[in-house]
Amino acid sequence: MHPTLAADLDQLPELLQSVRDFAARELSGLGERPVATAAKAPDAGPLPVAGVGAQGALERFAERWEPGFSGSAGPRYLGFVTGGATPAALTGDWLTGAYDQNGSSGGGSTADALERETLDWLRELFGLGEAHRGAFVSGATMSNTVGLAVAREWLGERRGVSVSREGVAALGPVHVLSGSPHSSVTKALSFLGVGRDRLRPVPLLGGAREAVDVGRLAEALEALDGEPAVVVANAGTVNTVDFDDLRAIAALKERYDFWLHVDAAFGAFAALSPAHAPLVDGLDAADSICVDLHKWLNVPYDAAVQFTRRQDLQVRVFHNESPYLGVPTGTPAFLHLTPENSRRLRALATWFSLTAYGREGHAEIVERCVALARRLGEGISAVPGLRLSAPVHLNVVCFTLADDPTPERLEALAGAVAGSGEAFLTPTVLHGTPALRAAFSNWRTTEADTDRVRDALARAVRGLSTAGGV
Ligand SMILES: *Cc1c(COP(=O)(O)O)cnc(C)c1O
Repeated sequence: MHPTLAADLDQLPELLQSVRDFAARELSGLGERPVATAAKAPDAGPLPVAGVGAQGALERFAERWEPGFSGSAGPRYLGFVTGGATPAALTGDWLTGAYDQNGSSGGGSTADALERETLDWLRELFGLGEAHRGAFVSGATMSNTVGLAVAREWLGERRGVSVSREGVAALGPVHVLSGSPHSSVTKALSFLGVGRDRLRPVPLLGGAREAVDVGRLAEALEALDGEPAVVVANAGTVNTVDFDDLRAIAALKERYDFWLHVDAAFGAFAALSPAHAPLVDGLDAADSICVDLHKWLNVPYDAAVQFTRRQDLQVRVFHNESPYLGVPTGTPAFLHLTPENSRRLRALATWFSLTAYGREGHAEIVERCVALARRLGEGISAVPGLRLSAPVHLNVVCFTLADDPTPERLEALAGAVAGSGEAFLTPTVLHGTPALRAAFSNWRTTEADTDRVRDALARAVRGLSTAGGV
């Protein structure tokens, strides 16, 4: 063994203690460190030849890289839809590395059974029935990709073609219909060989709404004249957290032949709040479902889950058996279900957080985030120079400048807030008008944090006007 490696092995308990102390310092200061950094990254260094050992690497990291890392795990990073890591989730994540199980199959371990237990818990948490089977994947993009891959195989089944054997070219034209799909849906369609341009936008309800007009969806399906299609329903849009009427869309299945995929990346968490659960009524009727876990469940990156009623088709797409042995039967190992073969035991962080806090603890995070979004929405309405772009439906506040909301002025506003170190918000465009979004999904965020974000915004707006209109 290399002497440095041997020394690290000898010192492993001390090393873990030292990392623990380092991480504890970082996490206890998280609420006060700048939320975003404008620091320039250090110049890339050469490949180390003689290594410095793990303690030495920790020191180099602290010196060169740590100062430029964001406070994105903290309470006032409201950009994109960004979760943190609950204490139990972090515990599970550390142990994922420590045990380093390959979650692809049993392989002499019960780790895969832990993933199945966790999947059952998630299914119940989101109100899905027994017919749904799932697997952990790395994020909602991959979850949408797996769901749409199964949809593609289903289209083949309807047309008497095995896409997994004959290729997507054998399938003929594919019709994908959606109202306000996330950008990852077109990415998935590109990746799956279906093509980004096959996504046909369906008109929305109008006004500030981002939900699909179900009547117009029915017309689009009617126009297909019996051709099978894929409908991507959106349960929680990123701008305004609007929800398609899942029940009404599912009811169209009586008249039209389509696969229903629901992107409920973070919207599925509405199921944890009695007041908001009706938003995801009908989710169980979907053929495939995407839910992100590194957002509102607050487990570390990277984790999401996919569910489908047709795991048989999923196995056809992803199975890793030799063609001579055929398609696996019984309970398929995870390597037959996901794009990866070898994979980390992602379920462990989720298992820890659900075990530690249960449905009630996670429901409290959801309810609090929704209440805080509403609070910030009210605060923003009272700040001169700002206005809400849409009512606050759930956990995202979408707002813009009352006067002259150009992309440049909004960028300047977001830049001033980020530069203050107080908060981080990300830009968007809602129905043609540039806007900013503040998304609440971190377990740490409090009312005091929310008021700090409002104050930082108010200062930044005043700065914009005194700077003479950027
Ligand atoms: C975040 C998000 C995605 C993509 O999620 P990743 O985890 O970044 O891959 C897809 N759909 C919706 C609705 C999202 O909010």
